[in-house]
Amino acid sequence: RAKSEGRGRACIFVPEDEQRTLHRVNIESMIRESLLEGHFELHYQPVVSMGHQMIVGAEALVRLRHPERGLMAPGEFIDIAEETGLIVQLGEWVLEEGLRQLSIWHREHASAIYLSINVSGKQLQDYRFVRTLENLLSRYRIRPGYLILEITESMLMHHTDHTLEVMNRLKRLGCLLSIDDFGTGYSSLSYLQKFPLDILKIDRSFVTDIESNKTHRALVTAIITMSRSLNLRVICEGIETAQQMEILKGMRCQMGQGYHFSKPLPAHQFTTQYLPGSYQATSAS
Ligand code: C2E
Ligand code: MG
Ligand code: MG
Ligand code: MG
Repeated sequence: RAKSEGRGRACIFVPEDEQRTLHRVNIESMIRESLLEGHFELHYQPVVSMGHQMIVGAEALVRLRHPERGLMAPGEFIDIAEETGLIVQLGEWVLEEGLRQLSIWHREHASAIYLSINVSGKQLQDYRFVRTLENLLSRYRIRPGYLILEITESMLMHHTDHTLEVMNRLKRLGCLLSIDDFGTGYSSLSYLQKFPLDILKIDRSFVTDIESNKTHRALVTAIITMSRSLNLRVICEGIETAQQMEILKGMRCQMGQGYHFSKPLPAHQFTTQYLPGSYQATSAS
């Protein structure tokens, strides 16, 4: 019956639906091709400690450098990667490329920075994810404590028993877990407690108007207080002005990220702008 319904619906397709389908199919094949051709790249955005304004880490953000369409942000392809399941393959590439880069930073710049990587709920539903990660960590000789895996609040809300079990395994492996875009999914404190989280990232939408929006100021203050009681470190994302930074610092937010500090940058640019010069083996005692 489902089949005949589907056929019936196809008959009343309006051009707009066709265009949307065409768009999806195009993006899907673009993702497949880009995985084969190596057109994906990672950009890195500094994560800064609010107290000292020192760089403590970087978030890896995927980009697609298309031969004709130029540099594409994840907003143009990540949802379709998610829906088609291609996110699992793309996510593995991101993990490998990010850890490869991190091992270079740790080795050649003696820089003990953290790397945050975004992972999708689909990746976390698969036990094999833990094995893959374990292999990559040992191949690149990365201490797991320098890797932060970010999972969005909305993904966590659609978790399964597997997701929770995989998160516990990742935690036992020594990785840090972070909840991303917090505040947009309406989860409660007691709900958060069942996940083995280390870091909470407050969504950009609360930071954007923090100077003028009293409700958002009260919310961010409450989230930071709550995080302390849960032993979670806090990162505020989307800090664009010095004033926003000062307000958040006053609220004792520990870390920040945003255009005020830096946009996401290609690896070589991140290296030259934010990391100390090449590590000299002779200077080590
Ligand atoms: P996110 O993880 O919340 O990443 C932060 C996004 O905010 C990034 O957008 C970043 O470029 C942007 N941003 C940072 N600071 C500012 C600021 O001060 N102002 C404004 N307006 N924006 C700022 P981007 O790179 O377009 O990524 C969008 C989303 O795509 C990410 O949100 C993340 O959810 C997803 N994403 C990115 N890379 C990956 C990946 O490798 N895997 C997965 N599964 N998702 C990814
Ligand atoms: Mg993120
Ligand atoms: Mg975020
Ligand atoms: Mg986001």
